[in-house]
Amino acid sequence: HTQSRIISADVVVKSPGIPNTVPLIQQIKQSGKQVIGEIEFASQHTNGKIIAITGSNGKTTTTNLIAHILQQANLDVAMVGNVGNSFAGELAKQDHDVFVVEVSSFQLDDIIDFQPDIAVITNITPDHLDRYNNQFSNYVASKFRIIENQNADNALVYNADDEASQFILNEINYPGSLYGFSLTKELEQGAYSDGEYAHFNMNQNQYNMSIYQFALQGKHNASNSMAAGIVADLMGIRKDLIRQSLQDFESLEHRMEQVAFVRGIEFINDSKATNVNSTWYALESMQKNVVWIAGGVDKGNEYESLLPLVKQRVKALICLGKDNEKLKQAFGDVVETIEETQLMNSAVRMAYYLAEKDDVVLLSPACASFDLFNNYEDRGNQFKQAVREL
Ligand code: ADP
Repeated sequence: HTQSRIISADVVVKSPGIPNTVPLIQQIKQSGKQVIGEIEFASQHTNGKIIAITGSNGKTTTTNLIAHILQQANLDVAMVGNVGNSFAGELAKQDHDVFVVEVSSFQLDDIIDFQPDIAVITNITPDHLDRYNNQFSNYVASKFRIIENQNADNALVYNADDEASQFILNEINYPGSLYGFSLTKELEQGAYSDGEYAHFNMNQNQYNMSIYQFALQGKHNASNSMAAGIVADLMGIRKDLIRQSLQDFESLEHRMEQVAFVRGIEFINDSKATNVNSTWYALESMQKNVVWIAGGVDKGNEYESLLPLVKQRVKALICLGKDNEKLKQAFGDVVETIEETQLMNSAVRMAYYLAEKDDVVLLSPACASFDLFNNYEDRGNQFKQAVREL
């Protein structure tokens, strides 16, 4: 559109990639016009139930898990938002009984009346701080906007192990029903894991299931699976079907995706790990010695939390980015071998050379991808291609 055309519109729907600080957006707002995100726009025009999932990590996984369980129950459900098609795009084709919407914090910055029936906050750890004046509290507040229009009929599924979420929930008086999930403590309402079993304590349903039966393994996925199970229960799905669906879910590309074994060396693609927290979980779930490929665009990363795991499990680090100084400085003292490259092909070949039988080569960058790649999918695909060429 031309600028004058935009200015003359009644409502402007803005892509979440455009910050509100851009002069044109400021100008539209000053003229008294509404600038909204497509999530807000679509939510004003559906009669369906809205389940909205936000968080720093685990959004896509949890969104997919929820959609999968509801689909298995034969509900008329569409998975939209930050994953798959846009909410508005899907709605323009047809309305659905249920929309499972993955919502990023940027998308929440552009809501007004958005009111999910069920909101899920997977966790809140520092990410994208560059867009929030490097203030963690701004970012937390942005994530919590998911509940700002909710009322007594609505529900929030939250991570009881997450400090930032707990802090906010202690401060506010949430009007709806609260369901927590935890890996560390028993919860009367929601779900918790004792390390072997996940116990679901829902209103009508009390049941448990071995966490080893979850299709998605690793501690973080136990949290995601419990969150999805709670939502499914709130949607009235039978416990047998929830159990079954959490077991037969097929894992997602670029998230701890097993690519291949080459001469006994395992290659794992975790390209979607674009921040430190997700890489922490990847390293934490490793049972073998690791040759770790990391790097890219640093969004204000603090690497200290990774040091113990890296010291214990990482035998070599291959820095794959335009500027690797920070990584080298952070891990120089704890990793014996550090190499550098700007090509995925060489990174994979170096890793293959440094790894021995029974080691694992893990691409889990802890950084965004756009210094060397189009996006995280491109980075993951190039990794897989390079592994196949070994
Ligand atoms: P998002 O959509 O929030 O970016 P994904 O489900 O795509 O999250 O997962 C992104 C990365 O984070 C993956 O590398 C995955 O291994 C890791 N991850 C998934 N769930 C969690 C979680 N609950 N906590 C921390 N890390 C997670």
